[in-house]
Amino acid sequence: MEDCIFCKIVAKEIPAHIVYEDESYLAFLDIHPQSPGHTQVIPKTHTRWVWQVQNAGTYFEVVKKIALAQQKAFSTEMIWSKIMGDEVPHAHIWVFPHPETPGDKNDFPGNALKIKNAL
Ligand SMILES: [Zn+2]
Repeated sequence: MEDCIFCKIVAKEIPAHIVYEDESYLAFLDIHPQSPGHTQVIPKTHTRWVWQVQNAGTYFEVVKKIALAQQKAFSTEMIWSKIMGDEVPHAHIWVFPHPETPGDKNDFPGNALKIKNAL
């Protein structure tokens, strides 16, 4: 969809710190992180709401993969997740370590690498 910032990230028209990508889904660091490694997991196909994603099970498997990698990468069991959908009109699931998790939340390359290495 034109003018959708997440579609532009999928098309690689806008740079992002991508931590995971497959045929259908993309996971990248949020630019306004709540904590180190705060990730957005999105379907590559423009979909307004998470509840409209065709294969919700597969989608959630990717979310789980990211959460388990974050547990390892940031040495915490407390991975939080949020589904809202108001900020960007493209389905997205927030996955992020507890806000008090130690580390520099603005070290995007470093945090992306930690998650990738833990996947
Ligand atoms: Zn979109």
